[in-house]
This record gives sequence, structure tokens and C-alpha cells, in this order.
Amino acid sequence: MNLKEKIFEKIENGTFLSTFCPKCKKHMWPPSNNCKECFTTTGLKDIYNEGILLEKSYSHIVGQQGYFGIGDFSGIRIIGKLESNIEIDEIILISKVKTNNNNKILVEFKKIDN
Ligand SMILES: [Zn+2]
Repeated sequence: MNLKEKIFEKIENGTFLSTFCPKCKKHMWPPSNNCKECFTTTGLKDIYNEGILLEKSYSHIVGQQGYFGIGDFSGIRIIGKLESNIEIDEIILISKVKTNNNNKILVEFKKIDN
């Protein structure tokens, strides 16, 4: 199984993993077999399911209309679909992770419940 297959298999079970450099203690996304900074072989680690919304924009692409944003999770940036009420700098959670037929990872964010 390659990295992507392993990550996809975990997503099926509801766990979101990314590659992680044991030396730099850093997550990497998109997944990579080697650390971009020190070239150490990476392992897989859970992404902490709480992040901050950095950017928000609206997509007009047919079939994908809606808000999208970039979230910072454990130091990596992930693009996901957003509810319209989430604003930049707010704390977000990864509410859904799934894969589509084109082997892409689709992520949805929601606002943290206080
Ligand atoms: Zn490293």
C-alpha cells in the first residue's frame, strides 16, 4: 500500500492522517515520503482536528458552489468547504473527510461549538 492508499483507508474509518517528520516534529501536506526540510523518511500521524480559518472565498464553479476556506491544522494548510457563518481567524473543526471518484480528498469545516 502506498501513502495515499493508507491515508484513504483511514479516511474511510473517519481518521485524518498526514505525513509527519519525526525529526522536525512537523506535519506535511500534501503527503510526502520524505521531509522537505531534512529529507528524513516520514511516518503517518493524526491531524489534530482543530484549526484556524486563514482564508475564505466563494466558489462559483458549477456543482461546487459555496464557501471554501483554507484552515491551518497542526501547522499544515488544508482547503475545505465551509459553512457561510464561519469567519477568518475563527476556530474550526474538520467535520467531514471523504474521497471522491477522482481520488481527491474532500474536507468540510464547521465552527467550533462553544
Ligand atoms: Zn524533517
